[in-house]
Amino acid sequence: MRTRLPLLALLLAVSFLSASAQHFSSFFRDSTLRLDYILSGNSEKTEITPDEHHLLSGWAGRRYHLDSLALRGNAQLYVHDEASGKLIYAFSFNPLYLEWRQTPLAKTERRTYEEVLRIPYPKAPVRVELVLCDAEQRPLAEQTQRIDPADILIRDHTGKPALPHKYLVHSGDSKDCIDLAILAEGYKASEMDTFLKDAEAATEALFSYEPFKSHRQHFNVVAVFSPSEESGVAVPREKRWPRTAFSSHFDTFYSDRYLTTRQVKAINNALIGIPHEHLIILANSEVYGGGGMYNSYLLSSTHHKWYLPVVVHEFGHSFGGLTDEYFHEGDLAAASEHAMTVEPWEQNVTNLKDFSGKWSHLIKKGTPLPTPAKLQKKYPVGLYEGGAYLTKGMYRASYNCRMRTNDTPDFCPACHLALGKVIDYHLPPRKK
Ligand SMILES: [Zn+2]
Repeated sequence: MRTRLPLLALLLAVSFLSASAQHFSSFFRDSTLRLDYILSGNSEKTEITPDEHHLLSGWAGRRYHLDSLALRGNAQLYVHDEASGKLIYAFSFNPLYLEWRQTPLAKTERRTYEEVLRIPYPKAPVRVELVLCDAEQRPLAEQTQRIDPADILIRDHTGKPALPHKYLVHSGDSKDCIDLAILAEGYKASEMDTFLKDAEAATEALFSYEPFKSHRQHFNVVAVFSPSEESGVAVPREKRWPRTAFSSHFDTFYSDRYLTTRQVKAINNALIGIPHEHLIILANSEVYGGGGMYNSYLLSSTHHKWYLPVVVHEFGHSFGGLTDEYFHEGDLAAASEHAMTVEPWEQNVTNLKDFSGKWSHLIKKGTPLPTPAKLQKKYPVGLYEGGAYLTKGMYRASYNCRMRTNDTPDFCPACHLALGKVIDYHLPPRKK
């Protein structure tokens, strides 16, 4: 009987594959619909305004698990087929706007932020719903737009030349792989050799960590030579404002190390003609810092001693939806990011509101809970208090982790587990 099991498993896998593949081609063609938005408001009121739509060649995103989310995220996009009402695509992410609205300045001032989202190009009219949520995971703004794929005002970029680029890892067709694009920020055209070395170092650093190491063959990594007029990136506290490809800057929300950009359209324009799902932006700077937002982008400066650990840490945010496990920052903007009334959706911290499904099954029987810091060697997995900028009431799985300190060589078991699930979610079922 045992010999029959693999055959049965194979038949089930094949039928599941064909059903999923059919689902993609029933509703989508092999192209990308890029949706630009403007998110604006303050701590009281948020508005979502659709901006331009774009047609891009090819679809590099997932073709399976189309109607499910890997993680809840702070914002969700849902695409419904207009004729049947069926949910045909879902996506979640963390917009920088939602961090802005929790800053002290948002109590008195309004700001706008660009957002760009990509969906597979629908064959028939769809309704696209964008939902932004507050710290309690309640919707604070929703917007639905009808999109007819035949609309003549959808800007057509197919056949346009792509920026020069080079594959650093090429494992296969973009439809079968996770497509990671590495962009240059603050590198002049004459500095692209330096950018290439920095991009290669980031790639090797990333694939030296599990679970990325054992999944290298499921990734494509492409370096995109996006040139800047001037070298370096903006450091506002030092009055340095070079003209760069994506106008990134440190001191985001007046936090020294926080490196972000609001020019998300410029980033996406640089990627026209290049298959991509996840973005790493390397900033040519010796200033320490970075930033990463789930399913959005990460920025990391390249010329300080912690470059490689930081880029991997930020990829934990932007790819894996992991939150910071440190809790001594004193950063007011970040401190209010998590409400204690609901379980965080991030998989590497818990406030014990709903711990099941996280790393509870990895905790050995007899482990004291919460787990005292002095027992970190005896109990590698437990409930260590402190995480997500909070010293009390929030717990992490291990005493240390790549999401906590730069000199930790690994992701903790909770992060490892969460990253593995996200990798699986991106891949065809047969690649698990
Ligand atoms: Zn961790």
